[in-house]
Amino acid sequence: MSMEPLDGENQKKRVCYFFDSDIGGFHYGPGHPMKPTRIRMCHSLVMNYGLYKKMEIFRAKPATKREMTQFHSDEYVDFLSKITPSNMNSFVREQHKYNVGDDCPVFDGLFDYCSISAGGSMEGAARLSRDKCDIAVNWAGGLHHAKKSEASGFCYVNDIVLGILELLRYHKRVLYIDIDVHHGDGVEEAFYTTDRVMTVSFHKYGEYFPGTGELRDTGVMKGKYYALNFPLRDGISDENYKSVFEPVIQQVMETYDPSAIVLQCGTDSLSGDKLGCLNLSMKGHANCVKFVKSFNKPLLLLGGGGYTMRNVSRAWAYETGLAAGVELGSDIPVNEYYEYFGPNYQLDVKSSNMDDLNTPAYLNRVKQIVMENLRHTGGVPSVQMTDTPTLPIDAEMDDLNADEDLLPPDSRRHRRLLDSRIQNDGELSDSDDEGEGDRRNHARHRDPDDAIESSDGSGGTANGGGGGGGMSLSARKYGLGAGIMHTTHGAGPSGHMTNVRAFATPSISKGSSMEIETPPPPPPATTSSPPNGAGMGTAEGIVEVKMENGNGSEGAEAREASVAMDIDSSSAPTPSVVEPPSSTINPS
Ligand SMILES: [Zn+2]
Repeated sequence: MSMEPLDGENQKKRVCYFFDSDIGGFHYGPGHPMKPTRIRMCHSLVMNYGLYKKMEIFRAKPATKREMTQFHSDEYVDFLSKITPSNMNSFVREQHKYNVGDDCPVFDGLFDYCSISAGGSMEGAARLSRDKCDIAVNWAGGLHHAKKSEASGFCYVNDIVLGILELLRYHKRVLYIDIDVHHGDGVEEAFYTTDRVMTVSFHKYGEYFPGTGELRDTGVMKGKYYALNFPLRDGISDENYKSVFEPVIQQVMETYDPSAIVLQCGTDSLSGDKLGCLNLSMKGHANCVKFVKSFNKPLLLLGGGGYTMRNVSRAWAYETGLAAGVELGSDIPVNEYYEYFGPNYQLDVKSSNMDDLNTPAYLNRVKQIVMENLRHTGGVPSVQMTDTPTLPIDAEMDDLNADEDLLPPDSRRHRRLLDSRIQNDGELSDSDDEGEGDRRNHARHRDPDDAIESSDGSGGTANGGGGGGGMSLSARKYGLGAGIMHTTHGAGPSGHMTNVRAFATPSISKGSSMEIETPPPPPPATTSSPPNGAGMGTAEGIVEVKMENGNGSEGAEAREASVAMDIDSSSAPTPSVVEPPSSTINPS
C-alpha cells in the first residue's frame, strides 16, 4: 500500500494543492543553500504516491506587482521586477537599500519566482475564504523573512503576509503558526500592532538568524500579547517539541478562537538540515500539522526553510498526505529523483543522537511565560472588521527595547555584510551533494543574554545557547548562522529602528488610492490540461489538474476583489505594519 487512511479522521477534508512546475527551474546561484528544486522533488513524491487522487491540484495565477504592493512598497516591488543578473550593475545603490545581493541574490527569473510563490499562497487563502476547500497547500510559499521594503533570509516577497491579508477580508481573527527553525520575523512585524492576527513562532534563539523572536517580544498597541515567541535551544527532540507545541497551541485556540489558521511548515527544523540545529524527525515535524489540522479550521499550509532537499521533500510529501487524510507508506515510490533517497529509499526522516539542550525545566519555564502572555490578552478580542491600528507607540517601543540594538541600521548592515565576507572562497562547498558531512558543528556557546537561564538557573549548564548548531559554513556565508544577531533591523520587536521603519513610510501605494476596480469578466471554463510537468512521473500518466488561468478563477476573482477592497481612503502616512483590510463582507 502506498498510502492508508489516517486513524481517527473524523472529517474528510477538501484539499487544494498548489504547484507550478516552473518553480523547479529557478536557481539562487552556485553554492546557495536555498534550492527551489526541492519543491519539485516534493511534488514528484506527491504524484507518485498517488496523492492526486485525494486532492485538487492547481497552478495558481502568479501574483502581480499590484497584488504584492498590498504589503510591499511600490518602489521595492518595482525594483524586484526590474533587476536581472545582466543589469544589476546599474542598481548597486538599490541592491544595498533593499538588501538584495548577498543572502538574497539576484538571479534569472527572480520576480517570476516571487510571483509563483505569492500567487499560490494568495490563491490558497482566497479558496479557503470562499469555502472552496478546507486545507490549501503551497509548498512554494512560507517565505517568512521578507519585509515591506527589504529582502531577507532568502525571502523577497512575503507570500504569508499577502495570504493572511486575503484571509482577513473574511475572517475576524487569523492565527499564524511558524515551525521553521528561524523566527518568523517578517510576518510578526507585519502584524505586530494588531489583534486580528496572532503570530506564534517556535524557533531556535540565541546567536542565530535573524536574531529576533525573544520570549519578551509580544506585540504592541492593540497587538500587545498577540505575538508569541517560543525560543528554543539546539537539538530539540520530537517529544520535547510536542510537550510545548501542543499545550501552547491548544491554549491559543481556546483563548484566541481564530476562524482560520496559517501554518508555516519550514523543514529546516528537521534533524539533519544543512542550516538548522534542531532534531525533529519527519513524524515529529508532521505532528504539528496533524495537531493543527485537528481543530478543523480553514488551514493554509505553507513551506518555508529547508535545506537538505531529500528531507524537505519527504516531510512535505508526508504532510500533504496528512492534509489529504492518508498516511504515506514507508517505501519511496519510483520517481524522477529516486536516487536522492538512497541508500534506504525510505520516506522517514529520523532524529539523530545529538544532545537536546532544551531541558524540561527550561521548556516548562518558557511555556509558563508564553501561557502567561496569552492570559494577558484577556480572551477572545471583540474585534471589528474595520479596526485598524494606527496610533503612534514610541514610548512603549522604547520601553520594550531600551537595552539593546543601539547600532544604527547602516552600521548593522555593514556588519552583516562584513560577516558574510569573512570567508575564504575555498571554505564554501558548492556541492549539491546533500551530504551530511558539513551540516553541523556542535560547538556550543554560552548565551549571555538569556533571561531564562540567568533568572532561574534551570538550564544554565545544560543549555548554553548553542549557537554552534547553525554555524555550518554555508550558514555563515549566508547569514543564517551565528554572529549576525540584530542585523535584521527590520524585525519589529527587537530594534529601535522599528519605530522609524514602522511609521515613517506610507504602506498604501499612491497609485492605487481610491481606485475601485470593476469586477473581472466571467470565468472561462476550467481547463483540464496540466501545468507543465505537473503530471510528470506519475504511474498513470493521467492527472487531472485544474488551471487557474488569468482572471477567470474564483480564487483570482477573490484576489482581484481584495485589491479593490483593501484600498483605504486615508492619505495620511501609515505604518509599515499591515493594516488589516476593512471589509463590509460578513465573516464566514
Ligand atoms: Zn528557516
